[in-house]
Amino acid sequence: MPKFIDLTGKQFGAWAVTARAPNRGATTMYLCICSCGVEKHVQAGHLTSGASTNCGCIRKPTKHGGAVGEFTKKYKTWRQIKARCCNPNHKNATIYNGLLCAQWLDFAQFDADVPEPPNETATIDRIDNAKGYEPGNIRWVSKAEQHRNQRNCRWIEHNGQRQLLTDWAKELGITISTLHERIEKWGTQKALSR
Ligand SMILES: [Zn+2]
Repeated sequence: MPKFIDLTGKQFGAWAVTARAPNRGATTMYLCICSCGVEKHVQAGHLTSGASTNCGCIRKPTKHGGAVGEFTKKYKTWRQIKARCCNPNHKNATIYNGLLCAQWLDFAQFDADVPEPPNETATIDRIDNAKGYEPGNIRWVSKAEQHRNQRNCRWIEHNGQRQLLTDWAKELGITISTLHERIEKWGTQKALSR
């Protein structure tokens, strides 16, 4: 019979083992705290074999792009959202405070609910801006997509009327890409004149 070795107080990657946790079946479990602050029950075997070295906030060697040991895109994004939404001193506090749903204050839950970003430059977007960062209301958008959204959501004034470029296109009965072409060719004001 193998000798039982208590792992309490030991460090495995970013995990600091704080205490024994109740066994899960025949499996020895430990309560661990990650360097980012997340607490989790981890299997003893996963700690000693190196299968688990952090809560998911740090990049695994097999993941695409970025340096090993760096925080993942998802974790960095979550940290930025948390800073925006939970800090009363943030410059945009009046806009963002309270927008992060309670269950996502915990990175482990955010990590479980949110899919992996398609690439390293993608940003997270709220689908409905009237709602917060919550399950069902977020998506990853590529830089190009974000750029396109910003371009189409530009306010343009013409003949004393101020509306979004997308709405101008609708009013003119043309597609947004046709309107972009016309603006490039003729300039904004002429493109909007019928
Ligand atoms: Zn962590």
